[in-house]
Formats: sequence, structure tokens, C-alpha cells
Amino acid sequence: MKILVTGGAGYIGIHTVIELQASGHEVVVVDNLVNSKLAALKRAEQISGKEVLFLEADVRNRNAMEQVCQSHRFDCCIHFAGLKAVGESVLQPWKYYDNNLTGTLVLLDVLANNGCKNLIFSSSATVYGNPAIIPVTEACPKGRCTNPYAQSKSMAEQILMDIHKADPEWNIVLLRYFNPIGAHKSGMIGEDPRGIPNNLMPYITQVAVGKLEKLSIFGDDYHTPDGTGVRDYIHVVDLAKGHVKALDSVIGQCGLEVFNLGTGSGYSVLDVVNSFEKVNHVKIAYEIKGRRAGDIAICYSDPGKAERVLGWKAEYGLEDMCRDSWNWQKNNPNGFEDEGKKL
Ligand code: NAD
Ligand code: UDP
Repeated sequence: MKILVTGGAGYIGIHTVIELQASGHEVVVVDNLVNSKLAALKRAEQISGKEVLFLEADVRNRNAMEQVCQSHRFDCCIHFAGLKAVGESVLQPWKYYDNNLTGTLVLLDVLANNGCKNLIFSSSATVYGNPAIIPVTEACPKGRCTNPYAQSKSMAEQILMDIHKADPEWNIVLLRYFNPIGAHKSGMIGEDPRGIPNNLMPYITQVAVGKLEKLSIFGDDYHTPDGTGVRDYIHVVDLAKGHVKALDSVIGQCGLEVFNLGTGSGYSVLDVVNSFEKVNHVKIAYEIKGRRAGDIAICYSDPGKAERVLGWKAEYGLEDMCRDSWNWQKNNPNGFEDEGKKL
């Protein structure tokens, strides 16, 4: 199949491009590189041995999107393009709503105009807010979003549900990711955040590589086994494979479906630190700080629906995730240094 991958130069997108190519799909990436580098696409080509067609464009740019959709007959679009920094979204809400919602609206319109009504959307466990049910099933009601990023994901889901209701020709899969970490086993691609990382794993790897002094653990007084926050960490390669499985469902005319992509296991911040130290033989200096505003105590998935319906199940465990994250970071202490080359 021919797949349009928006945001395909980013962390999850680039791993998915590799899995799509490995499964025989043809891929066209559209990305404005606001949070990624061309070097990621070059590396993906080296890994897969296949060319990645790439257009540097903003998904809000209707003319550019029309052009790409007219030049190719896409069977499906996987829509990763979006901004994702929670703190920045609180300070710059307009930017987040414009990018994440206008981008989705323009994309949907252009796709439909060009005869493609199949979409896989990157959603997030954040739409559950402080989940009413643990482990979180897809039947768990959506919760109160505490920041504009989360709100933009929840609103985009609602838009997609309404569009599907009005026009049942659309096949849409909403994938709610839990906490993606890890990297491709080659160590050639991985997460490359701008500035100081907000998320746990890139912070840990930057402490390990000596770029940051110590990890701050945000709270040890939660009602969890060791007092630190519990999350469902999922290997990014498992997550990428989930998209390939979801394609079959979309093309099989699923209507609208929602799936959790997680492992079903919850690990605390200290579990992650301990596992990282154990498998990589590196010490992680840390100190306990106060809770981070907006954080919840526990969130992990029930991924059973994805297994039953998509035949997808996460294969990697926490130790694999810690090993692969470190393998990427130690081989690329400065991430994808921009090689400044156009494809
Ligand atoms: P990322 O920032 O690495 O990738 C997003 C990509 O989209 C980047 O390459 C960026 O340049 C591009 N982009 C952003 N706005 C664009 C626009 N208007 N036009 C074209 N390209 C644009 O992030 P990621 O971690 O790979 O996340 C991918 C998607 O998954 C995002 O929608 C994100 O919100 C969602 N998600 C991520 C996580 C996570 O923890 N990483 C969790 C849940 C959901
Ligand atoms: N966390 C932490 N220190 C950090 C970053 C994160 O203690 O520097 C904790 C955070 O409080 C949460 C867990 O690690 O319990 C995962 O946070 P992350 O930001 O990676 O993902 P979130 O679940 O918030 O989306």
C-alpha cells in the first residue's frame, strides 16, 4: 500500500517508516522539520536500504498537501505531525491548537478531496486524564485534560469521531499511546529532544552521557509501591509495529476504532532508573523533588483489545527499552547532528 506519513521524520514516525517499509509498504513522508532533522530520514534509508520519498511541508499548507495527494494515490494516511511539549502548550496554547487542530482539519479535507478516507491518528493516553479505571481500557471515559496539548489530542479525536459519524466512508483508527521510549536496535535512530528533555527516559540518558548532572524525580509520596509515579512504558519499535497492524484494520473498513497501545505493565520512576543502571552498568544520579504539576500517580493500559482485534502485542520489556535507549544515546550524544543535506 502507499502510505502518507505526516510527521514521519519525528521519533515515532521514523521508527514507523522503517516498519512500514519492512512490511512492503511504500511511504511518502511530509514533515516541516519543526522538531526533527533530515538526518533521521537519511539514517532510516540506511537501515531499510530503501528510499524514503520526502516533502518538507507544513500539513497546514493546503497547496502543498493538495500537490502531494494529487501526485500519489494514497491508500492511507498515518498522521503523526503535531507539537507535543506539555509545558510549552501551557505557555503557547494558540500555537498548539493551530498546529494540532488546523493541521488535522486541512489534512482531512485534502485527503477526502483526493479520494483517501483512511486515517490512523496519533492520540495519547493523556486523553484519559486521571483514569477512572486501572488498567485503562478503551471503555474508560475520557478525563479532564490539564493542558492544551492534551486538550488538542482530545479535541482532534472528537473531530475525527464527528467526521466519521457524518461520513461513514471514513475508516479511522485512534491509537492512544502510553509512554514510548527505547530506540531502533541499530542505535542509528532514536529520540532527539530539543533542549532539556521533559520526559523521563531522554533525561536519564542525558544524565548517563554526562550532559545533565542529575535526574529530578518528581515526587516519592504517591500512593504507589515505592511512592514514585507509575507508567506504562512501551518500546517505540513495538509501537511502530502497532501502526502496521492497524493498517489492515483501516483497509478492512473498520469504521472508527480506538486502541490503547501499551504493554499492560506499570513501572515506577525508580523501577526505570534501577533497570537502566542494571542493564547498562551506568549510575544515574538523582534527587527526589516535589511533584510536577499535572502529574498523576498511576497510568497503565489494558492492551487486550489491540491483541484481540489487531493481533498486536508488545514484545519488548523494560530492560530492552533501557538498553536500546542507551545504545542510541551513547552512540549519538548530540542526537542527529544536522548534516545539512537535502535528500
Ligand atoms: P516528534 O516531535 O518527534 O514528531 C512529530 C513530527 O511532526 C516532527 O518531525 C515535527 O517536525 C512534525 N510536525 C509537527 N508539526 C507539523 C506540521 N504542522 N506540519 C508538518 N510536520 C509537523 O513527536 P513523536 O514523539 O514522534 O510523536 C508523534 C505523534 O505522537 C505526535 O502527534 C504526538 O503528539 C503523539 N504522541 C507522542 C507521545 C510521546 O510520548 N512521544 C505520546 C502520545 C502521543
Ligand atoms: N519524571 C521524573 N523526572 C523527570 C521526568 C519525568 O520524575 O525529569 C516522572 C514523571 O513525574 C512521571 C514519569 O516520570 O511519573 C513519566 O513522565 P514523562 O514526562 O516521561 O511522561 P508522562 O507520563 O508525564 O507523559
